[in-house]
Amino acid sequence: MKKPVICRYCGGPIRLVPAEQIYGKSTHRLGMDGECVYQCQNCNARVGCHKGSDRPLGDVANETLRLKRMETHQVFDAFWKSSHMSRTQAYKWLSQQLRLPEKNAHIGGFEMDQCQRVINMCRGNEKKEAA
Ligand SMILES: [Zn+2]
Repeated sequence: MKKPVICRYCGGPIRLVPAEQIYGKSTHRLGMDGECVYQCQNCNARVGCHKGSDRPLGDVANETLRLKRMETHQVFDAFWKSSHMSRTQAYKWLSQQLRLPEKNAHIGGFEMDQCQRVINMCRGNEKKEAA
């Protein structure tokens, strides 16, 4: 993923900023200590980075997409925990399902359609298990 420079929503300039600047006191709770975030200086669209790096997880997200990514994370985490998978196994499974290299299988960088696929996959598998 190349580093975003121009916002895809408004064309504003994107800067790499410390997570604390965006999340304030919540930074620690969110596990974002010392992490960086790409943020549009005009409309606040943003995307996080791979841990401890300045490599973006995907393209910047507006509020709608950010909420979708969060929802997807919740569904995915609940899914693998209830399936007795480890986090590592879960991400391996996800990358196989989506036919993505593991290094690109980060929900924090997914688009709307990919988020929806993950949600559908998790819900579909849950149903199979219950049957
Ligand atoms: Zn923008």
